[in-house]
Amino acid sequence: MKVVNPRTGEADYEIAPLNADAVAAEAKRLRQAQPDWAAKTPQERGDIMRQWADAIEAALPKIIPALTDDTGRGGISMIEAAGVPDQIRRWAERAPKLIDAGQPTGQPTSHQTITTSTQLVPYRLVGVISPWNFPMTLALIDAVPALMAGCAVLIKPSEVTPRFIRPLMETVASVPELAKVLSLIEGDGATGAAMVGNSDFICFTGSVATGRMVGEAAAAAFIPASLELGGKDPMIILADADPDKAAAIALRASIVNTGQACQSIERVYVARNIADDFLAALKEKAEAVQLNYPDIKQGHIGPFIFGKQAELTQSQIDQAVSKGAEIVTGGKVENLGGGQYLRPTVLTKVTTDMDIIREENFGPVIPVTIYDDVEDAIAQANDSKFGLSAAVISASIEEAEKVAGRLNVGAVSINDGSLTGMVWEAEKSSFGYSGLGASRMGASGLLRFFRSRVLMRQSGDAAQIASFAEENFS
Ligand code: NAD
Repeated sequence: MKVVNPRTGEADYEIAPLNADAVAAEAKRLRQAQPDWAAKTPQERGDIMRQWADAIEAALPKIIPALTDDTGRGGISMIEAAGVPDQIRRWAERAPKLIDAGQPTGQPTSHQTITTSTQLVPYRLVGVISPWNFPMTLALIDAVPALMAGCAVLIKPSEVTPRFIRPLMETVASVPELAKVLSLIEGDGATGAAMVGNSDFICFTGSVATGRMVGEAAAAAFIPASLELGGKDPMIILADADPDKAAAIALRASIVNTGQACQSIERVYVARNIADDFLAALKEKAEAVQLNYPDIKQGHIGPFIFGKQAELTQSQIDQAVSKGAEIVTGGKVENLGGGQYLRPTVLTKVTTDMDIIREENFGPVIPVTIYDDVEDAIAQANDSKFGLSAAVISASIEEAEKVAGRLNVGAVSINDGSLTGMVWEAEKSSFGYSGLGASRMGASGLLRFFRSRVLMRQSGDAAQIASFAEENFS
């Protein structure tokens, strides 16, 4: 299977997707090794994971270029890969305490002679299916806590961005005890579909359409599915906000990584009294943004990682314009050296019947709606099938929190945008079509990979059937 380079448009890499039999064989190998892995103490697993973190750190000079070729962007690939070792070390540090706290022993119950102790039993094999927008982060975000829980893990990253898999697998191979329980495989949608029937727990990050299929297949296989799907994140800018600061936040939160982030700001609602100043500042700042072209080491945003997203974004912009939207700046995808680029695009006069307001957009596009009444802004922000995250900007944290508390989303950034990409410690749920299952952030990011088994000890006399004789109750 050919893989396209997003900077050149050339198919310059190949993978051999695993078929269903190969997935089953790899799953069997990992599952067989899992009991020994689970029998280690969390501290022992943590020590092995720290060895892996060191191996990844040493391999960054190989991994970062692969990730850069996958995604067409340099600096973010560096941040993405370089953050992984510390992410592993953080879980290695936190997991033993969380596992300990999750296994209370000798708990008294409502019956004085019965005490209980709880055991956390890891799922045997966790399957991870991940997307292309942050290929390495999203391949590992669920896998690392699952490993710390004592599960074996099989990961299938996106076929759009598979170049980082081989150098990362070299690091796995360099830690033999980990290699028995962790594998990253190359494959496409069919490989992903085969993962579901071979896993005991499935973690999926990707689109709603595929997530729905994965969720249905998981239900049929009677396994839990953690689904992290799309978003259409709104930002509400209150009347007391500084329009210049708000414009800087809206711009960055909408266009970083070329807008290819689930938690990108995709709709802006600004109070009328500051709307002119806000739009003027947003236009000026948007026009100062430079493409990473021709030099990848210069500028702010790179090409679309996946060519189809460029087409989809252009069609959403064109549809909006045909329905009356006005382009303040940007608006046309450019082919530069074979890569598809879009300068930050600001739209006004957008309406709720436009796809740019209703459907997810993975481009650097900022549709702006001006509101007179904040109640209307809240209603419009909540008028979405998605409920991933949102942002509120105000001079008053108190006022911002009042609005934030009324948004149907699992995470709200206040006086910033897209903070979920930076905050891993606090739990958050995905509302609506944005996902299903326990939070991947915070303690539940680890604890969801366990089932609880309670041992109930009777120290007194066991009840006799005579106690249940009907005569006793009359
Ligand atoms: P996608 O749904 O097209 O693909 C995701 C993965 O699913 C890929 O690995 C793909 O090979 C696999 N797949 C395809 N068909 C499958 C099937 N039938 N069964 C099992 N697996 C299958 O998504 P994408 O285009 O790669 O990613 C972009 C999407 O991901 C966006 O919607 C974005 O919002 C979402 N996303 C969500 C989060 C989050 O945390 N909520 C984070 C990043 C991205």
